[in-house]
Amino acid sequence: MRVVVIGGGAVGAAVALFLRQLGGAAVEVQVLEPDPTLARSSSALSAGSVRQQFSNAVNVQMSAFGHQVISQAAHWLGVDGAPVDVGWVPGAYLFCASAAGAPVLQHNHAVQRGAGADVALLAPADLAARFAWLRCDDLALASLGGAGEGWLDGEAWARALGAKARALGAQWRRDSVVGLQARGGRLVAAQLASGAVLAADAFVNAAGPWAGTVGALAGLPVPVHARRRTVFALTCPTPLPPTPLVVDASGCWFRSEGRGFIGGWSPGDGDADPDDLPLDQPDLAQFDERLWPALAHRVPAFEALRLQHAWAGYYEVHPLDHNALIGPHPQCANFWLCNGFSGHGLQHAPAAGRGLAELLLTGAYRSLDLSAFSPQRVLAGQAFVEQAII
Ligand SMILES: Cc1cc2nc3c(=O)[nH]c(=O)nc-3n(C[C@H](O)[C@H](O)[C@H](O)COP(=O)(O)OP(=O)(O)OC[C@H]3O[C@@H](n4cnc5c(N)ncnc54)[C@H](O)[C@@H]3O)c2cc1C
Repeated sequence: MRVVVIGGGAVGAAVALFLRQLGGAAVEVQVLEPDPTLARSSSALSAGSVRQQFSNAVNVQMSAFGHQVISQAAHWLGVDGAPVDVGWVPGAYLFCASAAGAPVLQHNHAVQRGAGADVALLAPADLAARFAWLRCDDLALASLGGAGEGWLDGEAWARALGAKARALGAQWRRDSVVGLQARGGRLVAAQLASGAVLAADAFVNAAGPWAGTVGALAGLPVPVHARRRTVFALTCPTPLPPTPLVVDASGCWFRSEGRGFIGGWSPGDGDADPDDLPLDQPDLAQFDERLWPALAHRVPAFEALRLQHAWAGYYEVHPLDHNALIGPHPQCANFWLCNGFSGHGLQHAPAAGRGLAELLLTGAYRSLDLSAFSPQRVLAGQAFVEQAII
């Protein structure tokens, strides 16, 4: 069997890795990626954070597998005994809620505990005792993660997944897909920018924010939208201990990064044009207008916050329910989607890649049932909503 994977970010690399691990030499895997630097890829531009705190059990379980791969990187990603460093820093998420948000936090907590996550609910008095730098008087509840959360270097992560996939026999080709040819309701070949034509039995869309554009090449709708997200790198002259990744009740977030901090906010802005996703155009106005006031309210020491620099990347958002689309396209059985992770695809890449490989090669999920992510639900109009979106 020949499989073409379109996109060589963390998701495409994980798909390739597990296709080879499961299928061995019987599966020829070609990964098409035009940019070996991954400079515009979400994987390299992300905040690189891993959490257990979702509103759906399967998302918790996907993160748990992601964390397993990270914490046992030598086992899962090691090549010829060389050490694997993805820049992992164990940490925690701290979701803060006002009285209005507390019931959602309680509901999510029950789901997370049911899925085996190490999480604890904290009342304002516990919070104040534990995090003296945090303003708690307008908070009703918080949820703090334990083992299984932290952050890594997204680019190193994508590269490590890719290196393992290549060691297992997947081939990388520096090229982009500019056309997808169909015959009899199935895709038969990819046309490449170089002029080459690549015939295959299955095609996997792992193009991140460009997923919709790749779908259009096949004449098939893929309802994934690119939305700009800016990450701000900050310093604070007032010394603070390392902080968890705090998701404030306002929706703004921040966490320690080295000796400083990073932070951001997800605006409800419109879609970007996936054919024109410029690099290095962070929305700097967000800092003064939105982020700084919210962070200074939550952490009084942040009144003196200093903006060092900022960057922008693109979330690949599936607006129906903010959950991924994993599985064959409803209108084309050999066009596989692994898209629309809405800001948590880095940590879910291993589980998504493993699941897609299982379904593609054996016809069923073997390790973790990902059928809730089936693209069929879009046709049926059945949302599978993830509420804990940052
Ligand atoms: C600012 C920001 C913060 C984030 N924070 C987190 C976080 O803390 N934790 C987390 O888990 N996730 C986070 N994410 C989300 C995460 O980064 C993505 O979900 C994940 O990286 C998606 O990986 P991918 O491989 O699908 O996409 P990408 O990494 O974007 O890779 C897609 C690749 O497809 C290639 N491609 C595009 N078109 C074609 C074509 N026609 N032919 C061939 N190749 C093509 C591109 O060159 C690109 O390299 C964040 C994202 C952003 C933008």
